[in-house]
Amino acid sequence: MKSEILDGKAVAKSIENDVRNRVYNFEENYNDKVTLATIIVGDNPASKTYIKMKSKACKRVGIYTQEYILPAFTTEGLIKIIETLNQDPTINGILIQHPLPRNIDEQQCFDKIAIEKDVDGLSAHSFGKMAFGEDAFGAATPTGIIKILDSYHINLEGKKICVVGRSPILGKPIAAMLLNRNATVTNCHSKTKTLKDEVGQADIVVCAVGKSELIKKSWLKDGAIVIDAGYNFVNGKTVGDAENPEGIASFYTPVPGGVGPVTIATLLSNTITAAEKQKEMQMQKQKEKQYIRRK
Ligand code: NAP
Repeated sequence: MKSEILDGKAVAKSIENDVRNRVYNFEENYNDKVTLATIIVGDNPASKTYIKMKSKACKRVGIYTQEYILPAFTTEGLIKIIETLNQDPTINGILIQHPLPRNIDEQQCFDKIAIEKDVDGLSAHSFGKMAFGEDAFGAATPTGIIKILDSYHINLEGKKICVVGRSPILGKPIAAMLLNRNATVTNCHSKTKTLKDEVGQADIVVCAVGKSELIKKSWLKDGAIVIDAGYNFVNGKTVGDAENPEGIASFYTPVPGGVGPVTIATLLSNTITAAEKQKEMQMQKQKEKQYIRRK
């Protein structure tokens, strides 16, 4: 079978073009700018690289960043910063780069981000609303995966989908999103005893593990679609969580160049959406005030 690549770079480029136009219109309409606050704690080199990539992407589309590069910090100290940013009307979105150092209660910090500024969708409140099918930002990587599937018009309804991995930032939210799109979802994890069989039955396999080439090509059903979010470094090379499925899969995301670029583009898209919604909300409040004054 000839496999087709799901080109994350192309999808990301199209999202970025849309965001750039919306940022331009936002500035024209409101004479204001769009700003994302980014927070990094400690000196994890991978986190530094990711934040740099995200800041560069913001620049490409005209989003300003306010960067917090914090040394060793406490949960309480970080929460104070988040609360200040929540109150700051010049900040439209807040991104905390994960993982945070072990001494910090990561989820407690994510949960403090105001829902309207939680552009990475990592608070329990955002997750809950997303899972209930309500209006909230979904986590960037799973939302990006949905964008890739939609860009290639891949129908999800009734499909058997095996998600491997159940982390709060990736496996669980993508499973919930796919369920909301009427797929039949199996969520595997490290205690799953039948991984090979579950993968073998799936029309679509989503890999979200962080173990290089754990998912074998020989396990896949003919024509399966493979979405590989894995990002592992082996002998100086980047490899996914699945073996390259060329020849068996109908479509697959390459690593690199698949899920990664779309994750960043989704963050940008969520940030401009947050800014637009915040402005609409401000204007609505002003209208209500004027109405009450007139009465
Ligand atoms: P994580 O928090 O470490 O979670 C890994 C998940 O994999 C866990 O749920 C774990 O199960 C499961 N797992 C581990 N070994 C397994 C096995 N042998 N069989 C089945 N499941 C197994 O990782 P994560 O943050 O979700 O990230 C996963 C991968 O995605 C990493 O490679 C990461 O770099 C990549 N990632 C990429 C992007 C991007 O933008 N491209 C963004 C985020 C993450 P238990 O729950 O039972 O422990």
